[in-house]
Amino acid sequence: MEKLIEKIEKGSMPTHDEIVQLLALQGESALLLHRAAHRVKRKILGNKVFLRGLVEFSNVCRCDCLYCGIRKSNEKVARYTLSDAEILENARFAIDHGYGAVVLQSGERNDENFVKRVAEIVSGIKKISADVGITLSCGEETPDTYRLWRESGAERYLLRIETSDAALFQQIHDEKANYQRRRRSLDDLREAGFTVGSGVMIGLPGQTLDQLATDLEFFRDQDLDMIGMGPFLAHGDTPLGKRYPDTEEIKQKRLLLALNMIAVTRLMLRDVNIAAATSLQAISPADGRQRGILAGANVIMPNLGEAAKKRNYRLYDNKPDIDENAKNARLELEKSLQKIGEIIAYRESGTPLHYLKRQ
Ligand code: SAH
Repeated sequence: MEKLIEKIEKGSMPTHDEIVQLLALQGESALLLHRAAHRVKRKILGNKVFLRGLVEFSNVCRCDCLYCGIRKSNEKVARYTLSDAEILENARFAIDHGYGAVVLQSGERNDENFVKRVAEIVSGIKKISADVGITLSCGEETPDTYRLWRESGAERYLLRIETSDAALFQQIHDEKANYQRRRRSLDDLREAGFTVGSGVMIGLPGQTLDQLATDLEFFRDQDLDMIGMGPFLAHGDTPLGKRYPDTEEIKQKRLLLALNMIAVTRLMLRDVNIAAATSLQAISPADGRQRGILAGANVIMPNLGEAAKKRNYRLYDNKPDIDENAKNARLELEKSLQKIGEIIAYRESGTPLHYLKRQ
């Protein structure tokens, strides 16, 4: 196994079977894998970590994904939408505190009002700072909407494929969701000129290592610039969460599997941005994201303000909702990264190297 890791660290592309073997690693050999991926991150991207301020600006959603806490049919959720002023205030906070980019995330809506508002908010943020990077994560929209949002100033878009396996995709979504349409949306985003990110949930009920290996090949073949993926976590008010409740043991397994996925992604894709997702932190509050960095990730997305506090943007149970922007929390994060030899790249928007090279 050491030989295989060494070979891939040097840049040779693993076969499908080798990817499966790497994803299955545990204990000391998993650590060897993570360290190799972290070295590749260091070598190609340096010891920098980019920060993106995450604004979860609305939990109103027209979709009914079987795993997601803010799905349309979940009547227990108090729905909210932040005002333009609140969103701009969050963005201003991020800019003032040196976050190089903001991510605006919400449930999915495609009515004209929403589409127009998002465009206006994006240009509003660009008026505060022309340099701050803006990433949108608002789901599937029409090519026209993607173009409008791109023209209003957003450079990046995150849309997870959730799983690249068409059958599993259908199993975890309601009948209105469509795998081919999701794939087309990724193409539409690229055509609209976005830097495109995608990703999957890791440890879904019934998901195999073979499918996860195919997910990694999908990332590579789609030539993605950004990868955001994290462990699946049950939400008690969703069909999937009710049917497959989490245990501590399952969560720890998924955490390790997620770290292995991050590591193999770094080894295969080299120069992309990889986020250490919030769901890592949900399983391991003290060090989940740091472990993500140590397995090859280079982006952290602290949650900004209001929405997190209100607890209503709860995609899964035990989602961390501490105030990550309180001065203490920021200094803690900085210190914990320093301990592992990483520094926060303040005021850098952090365009993925992979994207820059393609231009
Ligand atoms: N509506 C937007 C963004 C909101 S959801 C969109 O569709 O892109 C953002 C991500 O949270 C989803 O893509 C999904 O991968 C993740 N997520 C949702 N429910 C989850 C759960 N129960 N466990 C882990 N991740 C979850």
